[in-house]
Amino acid sequence: SRLSLSNKELLLDSNLINGQWIRKADQFDVTDPANGNVISTVSNGTAEDAEKAVAAAHAAFKSFKRTTPRERSGLLKKWAQLVRENIDDLSHLVTLENGKPLAEAKGEVLQSALTFEWFSELCPHFGGVTIPSQDPTHRIHTLRQPAGVCGLITPWNFPAAMIARKVGAAVAAGCTTVLKPAKLTPLVALAMLKLGLDAGIPNGVLNVVTSSDHAAEIGTVLATDPRVSKISFTGSTAVGKILAKQATGTMKKVSMELGGNAPFIVFDDADVKAAVQGAIASKFRGSGQTCVCANRFYVQDGIYDAFVAEFKDAVNKQLKLGHGLDAGTTQGPLSSPSAMKKIEEHVEDALHTGGGKLIAGGKARSDIGPLFYEPTIIADVDPNAKVFNEETFGPLAAIARFNSEEEVIKQANNTEVGLASYFYTKDISRAHRVSEELESGMVGINTGIITEVSLPFGGIKESGYGRENSIFGLEDYTILKSVVTGI
Ligand code: ADP
Repeated sequence: SRLSLSNKELLLDSNLINGQWIRKADQFDVTDPANGNVISTVSNGTAEDAEKAVAAAHAAFKSFKRTTPRERSGLLKKWAQLVRENIDDLSHLVTLENGKPLAEAKGEVLQSALTFEWFSELCPHFGGVTIPSQDPTHRIHTLRQPAGVCGLITPWNFPAAMIARKVGAAVAAGCTTVLKPAKLTPLVALAMLKLGLDAGIPNGVLNVVTSSDHAAEIGTVLATDPRVSKISFTGSTAVGKILAKQATGTMKKVSMELGGNAPFIVFDDADVKAAVQGAIASKFRGSGQTCVCANRFYVQDGIYDAFVAEFKDAVNKQLKLGHGLDAGTTQGPLSSPSAMKKIEEHVEDALHTGGGKLIAGGKARSDIGPLFYEPTIIADVDPNAKVFNEETFGPLAAIARFNSEEEVIKQANNTEVGLASYFYTKDISRAHRVSEELESGMVGINTGIITEVSLPFGGIKESGYGRENSIFGLEDYTILKSVVTGI
């Protein structure tokens, strides 16, 4: 393996429960998706471990909820500082276990530090309000109190940033946490949480249970244990529905960040060069494996040929497959054989059933590694093709032609999910009209990159509910208590 850390203490293989690192004899392999080599092993946690972690978080909440926002602000600020100091090691771990290029990994780790900083700045200024009563003998005020123990389940595609946005907000609010990171990417999760402990966050506030074989039972413990008050899950809509159903039994607060199927619309009046750069950024970041990646391209008649030609040129000139640690790599591997199977199926379907025309890429590259797939463009795809109806989660840009604004909005909204949408236009009236009509939680106008800690992040329809990051993300980790005083 290419593992090389300057701070060896960041390589961990144990669960974190009540401030103690507890190593299990039963370990599972973490592999580098670029070559299949084993990087390291981590503990194969069980439902029983998750229950111990919940007990620790529940006990710690009794005192952590009494800390002042100013104290928690200091802890998060220190945590951010440690993340910045260890950015090289953390991004090295992200690249090794996730596969994304080192520059992207560094960007993600930096975002994680910024997230801790942002919540550290916000939490001392976040509180309740007073509201005039209709009864002259009453006074009304509200309290913002921490939700309680939070069960947090994070995915492999942003193995550091998804932890920061959940754990950072939880700690800011005064909650305690049990984290279950994705089995593909537990190493950076453990390293991040170790830095949280080093920052002085009290024992029991941060707990982590990693697992390969018992992930579902751990999910069930977090979603059903009555001591847990809130769950936050980022992952597939299918698993989100299971967890939400389980959480109903004890009426937990639930945040669900699920799959998307983002449309990327280019109107005739768009700046073609800018639209192409936005398309590259939105489609091919993380090799197309982010839930806000553009999945369906709709390009208007008048600009269609110019856009396709420019997009082809940009993909051929700007993108390079390789190991994420190698200089010049812009495209790492896919996450797993099932991801490879899905893109192959979507490409085949777009070309054959969908009548599409191959413009760039179109095949796996086993000469580079087992999970590499070329950045691919297919034009003239029938909007009924598979790729337009479900998220590929891979480097396939399928393009359909459209004629009118009305028609494209209908097509863009013709999906059961609604996370992100993108469109390019120079017409200010159209910009307002279209952003109001699109059925998604987030809209990018003339940009392919929207995510940052200041942006309320989340979806509508089957993309889930709840918002992360921003003041609304902090709000989601609190309960609003109303107090009436008779005078
Ligand atoms: P992973 O991220 O571990 O590869 P999945 O994407 O299938 O796995 O699911 C994400 C997480 O959701 C799992 O780690 C597990 O904690 C939880 N989960 C999956 N399936 C279930 C289930 N049937 N019941 C409860 N939790 C589940």
